[in-house]
Amino acid sequence: MLWSPSNVVLLIRRWCTDRASATEIAFGLSLISGTIVTRNAVIGAVSRFGLVYGETVPEIVLGAVEEFLKKNPRARQADVGRMIQEMTARQVEVERVEAKKKAVERRNVALGITDADVGRGQGLYDRAPDLLPPSTGAHPYIWELARTQCRCCVGREGGHNVFCGKETATGSSYCKEHHERIWMKPRQPPERPYRRPRGRFVRCLSPVET
Ligand SMILES: [Zn+2]
Repeated sequence: MLWSPSNVVLLIRRWCTDRASATEIAFGLSLISGTIVTRNAVIGAVSRFGLVYGETVPEIVLGAVEEFLKKNPRARQADVGRMIQEMTARQVEVERVEAKKKAVERRNVALGITDADVGRGQGLYDRAPDLLPPSTGAHPYIWELARTQCRCCVGREGGHNVFCGKETATGSSYCKEHHERIWMKPRQPPERPYRRPRGRFVRCLSPVET
């Protein structure tokens, strides 16, 4: 059988990841299977599987596809193609999240930030004063604000936003003045007098009157 699980995986790997031409793949398959595989046969399979040329399919997905085809040899090629696309998208997302996590970890190690610092959300600001310059004007930058300082943005200095920095009012993120200016009481909907529903509607609901 030309499209055995291992040959399908070979086709996907060569077409998607290695960017081989249909002729090259046909030649390779001919050598493996001992029969002549034409370029057209490869192009037909690529189109039935819906493979995208040059779009790398992770090895873990290829392994899963091979397992699936061994268990379901009669699976429709279009379904297998859809499965490849969905699994690849999921795997790419997993790898992206992992890579971001690793980059943050590397940066934290380089700056000497511990997990406890990260938990407090203060690590970078405490340990990296060189990266985050002190403000020169009367107002602090965001990384200089303590919890009890007003975080109302009041302008821009040295390419960064600067903040009010006065002591906050109780229960607010802002000082008394900014709290009054920024915080708005949620509006209550205006009260409407009750209006009795129109007669026709009432008659429909109460069969006693009719
Ligand atoms: Zn303020």
